Amino acid sequence: EWTIPIDPALQAELERHVLVTSWDKLLGMVDTVYNWGRRSALWPLGFGLACCAIEMICTASSRFDIARFGAEVFRGSPRQADVMIVSGTVTKTMMPMIARLYDQMPEPKYVISMGACASGGGPFKEGYNVVSGIDKYLPVDVYVPGCPPTPQALLHGLITLQRKIDGEKLDIPAIGRKGNTPWYDPDA
Ligand code: SF4
Repeated sequence: EWTIPIDPALQAELERHVLVTSWDKLLGMVDTVYNWGRRSALWPLGFGLACCAIEMICTASSRFDIARFGAEVFRGSPRQADVMIVSGTVTKTMMPMIARLYDQMPEPKYVISMGACASGGGPFKEGYNVVSGIDKYLPVDVYVPGCPPTPQALLHGLITLQRKIDGEKLDIPAIGRKGNTPWYDPDA
């Protein structure tokens, strides 16, 4: 209870318009608001690799409406993207380009591994030319299972990522910082 010896009408006005809180609670609110802003505008990199990409594109259609989660702004430039959705088969030839695109994204940045191929090589796992899991080269935040995952599954993955961001602390510049990928050598 906070009272000060002033005009009651003025006190009523102050109580309507002034909030009093502790520094710790304020920092908690800053975390919450900052994370809410970031998680509500996760711009994906416009980037598809194989059949899973068709389902990713469907997710942006009016029927599934990824805009409800603030992620409809697919960007053509990695420098404007927050999340890379690796949607499809990753060949060893393609991996250096994917790593370079990831490196060009600004921090904090996130990776969703969409489908069996991206997460573990899928049906091509035993092949000579396919990467058996992008998490060998990129720090994956969310795995979406399926071959291909449905648009609903991808949306579930996006919501999972949003919940992960909700729990992050405002610890700039450490927040979400993962650094760049090691150089990928397909012959290693
Ligand atoms: Fe295609 Fe299945 Fe691989 Fe997705 S996981 S790219 S649907 S083979």
